[in-house]
Amino acid sequence: MWFTNQRGEEEFTGGQDDWAGAARLASTCPYFNPDVEEEFVADDPVSCYNCRYRRWSTGSFTCLKKDKA
Ligand code: SF4
Repeated sequence: MWFTNQRGEEEFTGGQDDWAGAARLASTCPYFNPDVEEEFVADDPVSCYNCRYRRWSTGSFTCLKKDKA
């Protein structure tokens, strides 16, 4: 689910269009917290792609709570 990118950050392996994977991950994450609705990108409201702790990277996203999740 995660790999260490060139900046030493943990990045989601599914990129920006693994809708099922991002929803599955968020459904078991105790830190999921929905972002403001304008920032939603996934149809499934419970998704890492819609979480206020994800930070978009060039090809995917990193998670501000990754070390705790
Ligand atoms: S805190 Fe991180 S792992 Fe948990 S749902 Fe949000 S982006 Fe995904």
